[in-house]
Amino acid sequence: MDKWQGRVALVTGASSGIGEAICENLVKHGMKVVGAARRIKNMQDLVEKVKNENGTFLPVKCDVTKDEDIYALFDKIKETFGGVDVCINNAGFFGTGGTPEEWRQMTNVNIIALCLCSKLTVNSLKERGLDDGHIINISSLAGHQVYPFGESHFYTGTKHAVQALSEGLRQELQADNSGIKLSVVSPGLVKTEVFNHVHGNPMYNKIYEGNTSLKSEDIADLVSQILSAPPYMEVN
Ligand code: NDP
Repeated sequence: MDKWQGRVALVTGASSGIGEAICENLVKHGMKVVGAARRIKNMQDLVEKVKNENGTFLPVKCDVTKDEDIYALFDKIKETFGGVDVCINNAGFFGTGGTPEEWRQMTNVNIIALCLCSKLTVNSLKERGLDDGHIINISSLAGHQVYPFGESHFYTGTKHAVQALSEGLRQELQADNSGIKLSVVSPGLVKTEVFNHVHGNPMYNKIYEGNTSLKSEDIADLVSQILSAPPYMEVN
């Protein structure tokens, strides 16, 4: 992680679970970390927690379903730190309501926001003439498999889209000799708040029972390992 010390990482969905753990880890590795989410209070607690670490943590209130919030986020990062070097697209929404409203919310959070943040990160790196940025997309095993799992087929569809969009952009960046890497992490079950808001289907209250789930810290460690990989190695 030495090469990233003092560099800037944006982590979306930084207010809980995997995103919060990634932020903490990257700050410990000396990065200037910007966390984006709607629950600013949670992120302010993290500011306090990491205040004596090597790096810094700047929370920014951002609803990633609003394009204007994402543009404002990148403007703020440019003003404060110059630009984004590493973008971790982690914000995610798991809805099983089976309504167009929930489908739109999942599309906007899991797909559109990830694409817009990736595009603005590439622009930011190119504007500054840099050739060593890294985008890491947090997908899911649900991006590789389809299973009868409650009413999760739309979520599964969004994560399959993340796989295809990530691989497409990775190939474009490679063809362009941009030097910008794109990696995808597809966790299995991780103990977080992700199923908390699912109402009406009792299976989601019990999803962790009898399963050995991963911890958010495990995924955060994996992200740091990916960022530590030598320039000739891609993890995708
Ligand atoms: P959490 O629910 O703990 O975290 C989700 C994060 O996404 C929160 O910080 C939340 O912030 C943010 N988010 C959701 N909607 C928005 C929005 N509109 N604008 C801004 N931020 C938003 O769940 P996890 O940590 O588990 O999820 C992180 C990622 O990991 C997701 O992409 C998820 O799909 C993926 N994943 C999770 C697995 C698991 O078993 N937990 C397994 C595989 C993948 P806020 O509400 O404050 O805005």
